[in-house]
Amino acid sequence: MILPGKTIGILGGGQLGRMFAIAARQMGYHVHAFDPIHYGPTGQIADHEINAPYDDIKSAQRFARMVDVVTFEFENVPAETLAEIGKIKPVHPSPRVLDTCRHRLREKRFLESIGVAVAPFREVTSIDEFTAAVKAIGTPGILKSAEFGYDGKGQLKIDPATDITSAWQSTGQSHSVYEGLVKFDKEISVIAARGESGEIKCFDVAENLHRNHVLDVTVVPARISEATRDQATEIAVKIAESLDVVGLIAVEMFVVDGRIVVNELAPRPHNSGHFSIDACMTSQFEQQLRAVCGLPLGNPALFKPVAMANLLGDLWKDGEPNWKAALRDPRVKLHLYGKTEPKPGRKMGHLTAIADSVEEAIKLAIEARDASGNLFVATTETHREERKFS
Ligand code: AMP
Repeated sequence: MILPGKTIGILGGGQLGRMFAIAARQMGYHVHAFDPIHYGPTGQIADHEINAPYDDIKSAQRFARMVDVVTFEFENVPAETLAEIGKIKPVHPSPRVLDTCRHRLREKRFLESIGVAVAPFREVTSIDEFTAAVKAIGTPGILKSAEFGYDGKGQLKIDPATDITSAWQSTGQSHSVYEGLVKFDKEISVIAARGESGEIKCFDVAENLHRNHVLDVTVVPARISEATRDQATEIAVKIAESLDVVGLIAVEMFVVDGRIVVNELAPRPHNSGHFSIDACMTSQFEQQLRAVCGLPLGNPALFKPVAMANLLGDLWKDGEPNWKAALRDPRVKLHLYGKTEPKPGRKMGHLTAIADSVEEAIKLAIEARDASGNLFVATTETHREERKFS
């Protein structure tokens, strides 16, 4: 057991590491961050940071020697670096879990092997395989790079009219997956935490509204039936157990006619779990800390309905947003990640609104974001359209 006073090493320096470091320091731990960039969102909170490229094995070994346990907030740390760190200190979740979750094909094959439904897919490594995949699965579909894709990056929608050869050329012809487009009713996610003892606790099912393939708004509890809720939670538990995760696993899912189809896994805290900081007895970050330190897991119970709205760099188009206006309603909370350069699409922070109903929470969160000056905020109706890749 790693008790307060010990040092946690975190690989990655973004907002997930920042919110983890805040939770860890609150509980009396020290935090060391490994991040190629100096004084990023995590580095601003950590006691110490090592700035080196992720493939700098010597720096990674030095980092590992200074901490008691290592976790991560960023999946794409090279396997060799993780292996070297793992020889020195425990890494949670294990590099094997990371290896499965950061590669779309391995991830989908794993999910199929445990009987979890995924979108129809085919591996694609050449134009011939791509042509065959489109023929077998049909259109519309999406060509996704097998690795390094997130928030819709490395993805191309394929329609009946798409020219297959130029589509393949435009993607850089890397190792890919072609998958059928799922006509979902809703997108939801479940974050499960699993301790070393095998104890598992899940957060309430979150309903996610995307905009341009990036998470825009999360509402909890998700507006789904009890049966769908139970099914989604059971699937997350099954995945956490089968992967033997120690830490968190976020499971992104589609709801299709009451059935669940799993889209993606992330073995770390997730954007759709940020609501837990303000609305739950234990946040996803504290839960990650407890799991990787071998402490008993906290109660993830939701206090009240909540909506979380992401604040993207676009909001800074005309300068610093009007935070005073955003915070006019006392039920709205502001989280900023300490990023100095607002770029379009960049996640700069989020707002959380807590209310008596989900509908009221959504209204509050969107109104607060609107008031801060974002002229591009869509209504929930627009989200519904965009979700379908209009
Ligand atoms: P991903 O990077 O795989 O999480 O995809 C980002 C978003 O694109 C998802 O949250 C969905 O809104 C959408 N998407 C991805 N794959 C599919 C699919 N097979 N069918 C329908 N929508 C998808």
